[in-house]
Formats: sequence, structure tokens, C-alpha cells
Amino acid sequence: MKLVLLGAAGSGKGTLAKKIVADFNIPQLSTGDLLREVAKSGTALGEEVKAYQQSGALVPDNVTFEVLKDRLKKSDCKNGYILDGYPRTLNQAKMLAEIADVDAVISIELDFEEIVKRLVSRRNCPNCGEIDNAEYQGYTGFCRKCQTPLFQRDDDKPEAIKARLEVYKQNITPLINFYGDKVFKVSSAGTPDETYKPVKLFLERLK
Ligand code: ADP
Ligand code: ZN
Repeated sequence: MKLVLLGAAGSGKGTLAKKIVADFNIPQLSTGDLLREVAKSGTALGEEVKAYQQSGALVPDNVTFEVLKDRLKKSDCKNGYILDGYPRTLNQAKMLAEIADVDAVISIELDFEEIVKRLVSRRNCPNCGEIDNAEYQGYTGFCRKCQTPLFQRDDDKPEAIKARLEVYKQNITPLINFYGDKVFKVSSAGTPDETYKPVKLFLERLK
């Protein structure tokens, strides 16, 4: 099963992907995470990628595609995967179509107002990747899973958030049109479990 997850930054893409991973036994490939690894590599390419990510702009298509293609070669991808954060543009979707047939596309829908609210208070664990929110009940500033102090991503600051949402707005309609009847839309206004329920039913029927 080869799946694409569409959704703006902060719409709950990563959270939904983790639930699919747990039930359907396919890896989550996040181009944001893969590119953050490149950014940390200390190479010239890494510095370039870091600058794009910090500003909230897209990393150039050829760079992102090479990073993704490399990851797709690993053996855990042979039964399928969930692409989290790829494609983000029509051009990226066309590049992907050259190397893979996507079975379904899940598109997460959420008001931008709510997205901004979630993003400014989002906090991440540098150790295990857990995502928390400073506005949630019981928030302590430490990871719920491994107790490491949480941090705020550079691009979860207001200017970069605005830039990322603008890029998303410009690109989403051509992407939805490109994938046509492969698209399954779901709202993430409720809890993570409420969001996942219809998606799970959809994927069970797809299998
Ligand atoms: P979010 O979905 O919250 O914006 P991601 O971790 O998915 O976070 O992406 C963070 C940044 O990584 C993006 O703003 C962009 O700079 C870069 N990036 C991720 N995926 C892509 C992609 N498919 N194409 C180009 N740049 C990307
Ligand atoms: Zn942790």
C-alpha cells in the first residue's frame, strides 16, 4: 500500500501517519524529517537545506526528490509506505509518478486559524520525536514518553508559519486535482482518534 498524506503544517499529518504505521505495518517517510537530517549533516548541501527550512520555504524539488528516492530504496519500503510531506507541489507529484504508483491519498482538512493556534504551541522531543502541545492539559515541558526536555522548532515561529501556510494554499488544489478520485478527505478538527477512525475504515477497504 503506497499512501500519500496531504495536509498543511500543523494539520495533524504526523500524528495520523503514526496511527497508520501502527495498524498497517508500513513505514512513515517524512521528507521534513529526512531533510532535517541532511540539514544537520554539516555539508554545504546541509547548510542550504537548513536555510530553506528555517524560512518556511520549500527545499528545491531536485534535492528533495533525491533524498526521498534514496530512502525508498531501503528494504522496509517493499510492502509500501506512507509519504508524509511529499509531494507538496504538482511538479513533485509528477516526479513521484515516474517512480511509484500511489494507491490512495489522504487529505487532512483544518481551518488555518486553528492550525496557527496549534503550531505556535507545538513542542517536539529531540530524542524520540514525540509531539506535544504547550496548551494541552498536563503539559510539563518534558517528553511524556522519555522525559527529555521539549523544544520548539525554528519554523514554528509566526513568520515561518505564515510562509509555510502560504506555500500550502498555493499548491493544494492542483495536487487534489492531479490525484482525482484517489483522494479521501478527512477533517482533523476533533481528537486524533476521531480523525483516524474514518481513515482506518477507508484503508481496510482499500487493502
Ligand atoms: P510541516 O509539515 O509542519 O511544515 P515538515 O517537517 O513536513 O513540517 O517540513 C518542514 C520543512 O521541510 C518545509 O517547510 C520545507 O522547507 C521542507 N520540506 C519538507 N518536505 C518538503 C517537500 N516535499 N518539498 C520541499 N521541501 C520540503
Ligand atoms: Zn521523547
